[in-house]
Amino acid sequence: MREIDVRVITENIRNLCMEANTDLGEDVLRVIDRAMTEERSPLGVEILKELKENARIANEEKVAMCQDTGVAVVFVELGQDVCLVGGSLKEAVFEGVRQGYRDGYLRKSLCHPFTRANTGDNTPAILHMEVVPGEHVKITVAPKGGGSENMSRVTMLAPAEGVEGIKRFIVQRVKESGSNPCPPTIVGVGIGGNFEQSALLAKKSLLRPLGSRNPDPELDKLESEILGKINRLGIGPQGLGGRTTSLAVHILMMPCHIASLPLAVNIQCHAHRHKEVIL
Ligand code: SF4
Repeated sequence: MREIDVRVITENIRNLCMEANTDLGEDVLRVIDRAMTEERSPLGVEILKELKENARIANEEKVAMCQDTGVAVVFVELGQDVCLVGGSLKEAVFEGVRQGYRDGYLRKSLCHPFTRANTGDNTPAILHMEVVPGEHVKITVAPKGGGSENMSRVTMLAPAEGVEGIKRFIVQRVKESGSNPCPPTIVGVGIGGNFEQSALLAKKSLLRPLGSRNPDPELDKLESEILGKINRLGIGPQGLGGRTTSLAVHILMMPCHIASLPLAVNIQCHAHRHKEVIL
């Protein structure tokens, strides 16, 4: 049994919070580059250039790429042959978020739902835990902004609505969202499971590298078809018109109850932040 001190988890989460907020992934930059060659709106191209410039400054000067530094969503895959020592895992995760947001001068965005009083340290984080085989711990930190999260939805379709109903709902969701989620967006989709599982699938689908293909050929085809429909809506970068409304559609799917067809759409803005480490 491999021992890992939870202080190591805290330290890594601290660093991942800061890294995720200042360093936009190479995969995102590559897909923005490609979008620039396909965008026909001069203003759209200009905005895409600005996004790249913003990412460059954030990375070089180690400042947040967006003022909304988000809710810290933390995924932990815990190897079943790992023994965590030195304290509670949950507290270690929260402490890492506390330190990362403090030391990185990142905005604290969490508040009481009624009074709106800020919790002061960006905790509690949203923690998703999974026990997996092996003796490693994989940690992913994905700060999620409010603007794009607000445009996300879960629905329970009637099974008879089928794939056509799924396509309709996703495209309509993006259309109604307009400029609110700071397009170009990445559209995370969870199909199946149940009410809460579909939302988690949608969120997890966003962690797949941008520009990669869905390993399931049927879903891969569906992603391309939905992306095509979305990019014909004309919303464009920052909602000012153009072809580049979304950079990608990512789908994760699992079986569901015979009476249900759960569907979740988690919209992610261009500040597509997530960093991971394997301990
Ligand atoms: S939706 Fe994204 S880019 Fe827009 S303000 Fe929120 S975090 Fe920033």
